[in-house]
Amino acid sequence: MQNYSIEQRDEQLLDTTSNIRYHLYFEKAAQHTIRVELHIDAIDAPSTALIMPSWMPGSYKIREMVAHQGNVVVTDALGTPLQWQWTSKNRILVSTENTSSIRLQYTYFANERGVRTSHVNRFHAYIMPVACLMFVEERIHENHHVYFHHDRSNWKTITTQLSPVKHSFDEDEPLILGALNYDILADSPIEIGNHSVREFEIAGAKHELAIMGNQNVDIDWLMGEIHQIVETERAFWGELPYDRYVFMLLVGEGQRGGLEHARSNVSAVDPSAFSDKSSAQGMLALLVHEYFHTWNIKRIRPEELGPFDYSNENYTSLLWLAEGFTSYYDDLLTYRCGFYTREEYLNVVSEQHLGRLERIPGRHAMSVKDSSLLAWVKLYSLSPDMNNRFPSYYLKGGIVTMMLDMWIIAQTNGTYRLDQAMQTMWELYKNRPERGLSEDDIINCIEFAVGVKIREKLLEWMGGTDELPYNDILQPFGLVWGTRKEVTPWNTFGENRPFAAKKAPVFIGVSLKDEQGKLIVREVEVGTPAERAGFGIDDEILCVNGRRVSSASTFMQEMQSIGVGKCATITALCDGTLYETSLQPEPAVNKALMQVSDMSDTQRKLLEFWLKR
Ligand SMILES: [Zn+2]
Repeated sequence: MQNYSIEQRDEQLLDTTSNIRYHLYFEKAAQHTIRVELHIDAIDAPSTALIMPSWMPGSYKIREMVAHQGNVVVTDALGTPLQWQWTSKNRILVSTENTSSIRLQYTYFANERGVRTSHVNRFHAYIMPVACLMFVEERIHENHHVYFHHDRSNWKTITTQLSPVKHSFDEDEPLILGALNYDILADSPIEIGNHSVREFEIAGAKHELAIMGNQNVDIDWLMGEIHQIVETERAFWGELPYDRYVFMLLVGEGQRGGLEHARSNVSAVDPSAFSDKSSAQGMLALLVHEYFHTWNIKRIRPEELGPFDYSNENYTSLLWLAEGFTSYYDDLLTYRCGFYTREEYLNVVSEQHLGRLERIPGRHAMSVKDSSLLAWVKLYSLSPDMNNRFPSYYLKGGIVTMMLDMWIIAQTNGTYRLDQAMQTMWELYKNRPERGLSEDDIINCIEFAVGVKIREKLLEWMGGTDELPYNDILQPFGLVWGTRKEVTPWNTFGENRPFAAKKAPVFIGVSLKDEQGKLIVREVEVGTPAERAGFGIDDEILCVNGRRVSSASTFMQEMQSIGVGKCATITALCDGTLYETSLQPEPAVNKALMQVSDMSDTQRKLLEFWLKR
């Protein structure tokens, strides 16, 4: 498969023709339905197979998109019915012995709002080609054209990384956009409607920002921030690998997540992302993350991730490179963009990275490498008990990447860091874009770029389940991961008159949710008071020491007032049957990333090097 390529410049599609043409009709948009006609010409085989993908690259879960397809009709170009049959859940085999053309028609129900699935209604169409357009087996390397038959006076704007095949289109003819192959088409989300768009240019490359979801947000402010993101990441990698790039932001209630593409990304946020500083910082870090994937994962990638088998799981243990490295750099580059102060960045590392992993007992049950290989049935399946079973390759992968970067900095006394290794991987991609990287390729690239032996350490951290040696790595930087000594203050008022002593914070190890007035156990962390009390996921907590509690905050207040070392009697329901148990809170361990008080000049120098921007 030496033909694999996701590179496309707009000029390459101008004035092209195609023997594989999709026609999209939206007469039933109000019913969330697209009508698809796929025209295939120049067939020179006794049979032709058409396949609907079962998953989309970047989201490692079998989703069976074919479930939303129906009303299949297969004819030749003259409308003569052809013999055809389903040969598996997502594959149609058409007899083409006596014809050189196929006209496949089907309807597709598109009503899943998000970054990775199609969503069509009376106001707009968001189309993920990989989630609704069948491909022709053995012919994915040809040009693919898509004809859009929507009413352009009603839906005025179209935004996508797909390229126009003509300079301009008459009002009464469909827009035609194209891709050099199916991999590029599959990778190209399309928004059609009346969304807001801004454009800007950096280093000769066009950039577009589209806000989807009909929310009234400050697009001009965001465009300025994205300008900064592009400049910062361009400085990191040394160049922009495209002629045009599209940022698509879906703003909608409860929306979250993102998906990377070769010349675009789609990120999704709740409207609250625009309401306060830390939410806005989180949104910008998401945009930094998805944009970083333009280089790391779409181009620099594990060898198993492109070319793809669209019907089955594509297993790789290297998502620590694709997502772990990206997770480290998303916050670091957000800091380099100036969106975090130094203190804010260190707080993010402390609370959102190290502190969060501390609460994942699954880090001792499975390695990052296995968590990556099993992403299909672990991270993307979201078992309620997942935190006890495995660590996310985003979270732990990102922490290991930070440790790797700091290890390289310390070993080279502040001369090299992981940045140079990423640039070396980038050069390797440019030399052989058709091939992804093996684990050895990655390790060799890093060792070559920075001159430090990292193989043993990296494999131990990514492949093991022992506690990571944070403080060995942090010490040369004058940092320590440890317990914050909290002085338990006497509450004072006025003339320093002491009131009741504040009790040390307690820890239970349970996560609760308020569900229609009921207090339900969402998660029980292994090895904690909650597990010892015998709580199970989905149990309903009724009373603490005979007093009714109906919200998570009241429950925690009760526990706090009981304090460390004392027992509370809990009344709860399991599967509708009452039980009573004893719960003994533990002292909460308040760990944090801290700076040592007597920092040496060498430590200061390395810290400055790590956090320079
Ligand atoms: Zn990612």
